[in-house]
Order: sequence, then C-alpha cells, then structure tokens
Amino acid sequence: MILQYHTHLPEAVFFDRDGTLIADTHYVTSPDQVILRPGIANLLATLRYHNILCFIVTNQSGVGRGYLTYYEACRIQKRLDWLLWCSGKGLIHHVFMCPHLPSDQCQCRKPNPYFLNHACLAYGLNARRCWMVGDKKSDIEAGKRAGMKTLLVPTFKGAKEGDSKIQLDRVITS
Ligand SMILES: [Mg+2]
Ligand SMILES: [Zn+2]
Repeated sequence: MILQYHTHLPEAVFFDRDGTLIADTHYVTSPDQVILRPGIANLLATLRYHNILCFIVTNQSGVGRGYLTYYEACRIQKRLDWLLWCSGKGLIHHVFMCPHLPSDQCQCRKPNPYFLNHACLAYGLNARRCWMVGDKKSDIEAGKRAGMKTLLVPTFKGAKEGDSKIQLDRVITS
C-alpha cells in the first residue's frame, strides 16, 4: 500500500534508463558500462523514503538488433539495481523493457504510452500524479500521451558531476 502523507507528492516516477539514470554509451551492452548519473542515487533514496514507486521504461532495440541478449539486458539491470541499493537504498519496483526494433512497430516502444498505461492500471495509479522523466522527446511524448507530468533532462553521457544534474528532487517537493 502506498502511504500518501503529502498529497502533492507523486504516486510514481517513471524513468527512462540510458542517458537519464545511467550514462548513455550508445548501446549499453555490459554491466561494466553502468555508470550512475550524479544525483540519481540520492533521488531514488528520497523517492523510496516517501513511498513513491519508481519504474524504468526503456527502449532496448539493441536486443532486437542482436547487440545483446535479453539475459544480458537483465544482468545490466541487476547491476543498476545493485548500485542504486548500495549507494542510497534506492529501489526500482519494476522494469518495463521494449526489446523491439522501431521497424517492428510494436505497441510497447516509446513514444507509445503502453507500458505507462499498463503500470497505472496494474498499480492503481492516477497518471496525473505520476512523472515521466527522460532525456529524449520520445520519453516526454510517452509521458504526455499517458497523461503524466513530464521532465526532460539533459542526456548524461558520463560527464563530470554537476553538469547534468537531474532536478526532479527539487521539482517533486516544490
Ligand atoms: Mg534515454
Ligand atoms: Zn516493443
């Protein structure tokens, strides 16, 4: 059960993965390439403290292209889970991954809001009290089509700390 002590706080935050939570190394194909964006560990810890659900919605066409297997994609996620937990007890409640190619015209690839809608139904969330955070237009479009608030952040490519900090911690508590 989600305890809402502060009615202005979101019920859930949906994050894009590459370029938003971790460095975008074009295609992340190995757990070694998982580099947390500065500020993310603290942000996820804060969200957890407030009982706000955290989800990842990620397009991983590298799977469909054969750059990595589904199993390897899961290992990358395990690494990310581990880093988040170790560096602040942050928790991702569920990961929604589209492994398809754009040409597959699947329904789950962002900017389709399929996973966002699905999560809202499955978890009983009010989309208007959820955020979609990403570094690409397709993330923002998916969020808007699902009726969520959106936050576009600069793409994080592993640059130095401080130059691409996410502002959500300021936004959600304002
Ligand atoms: Mg991205
Ligand atoms: Zn898909």
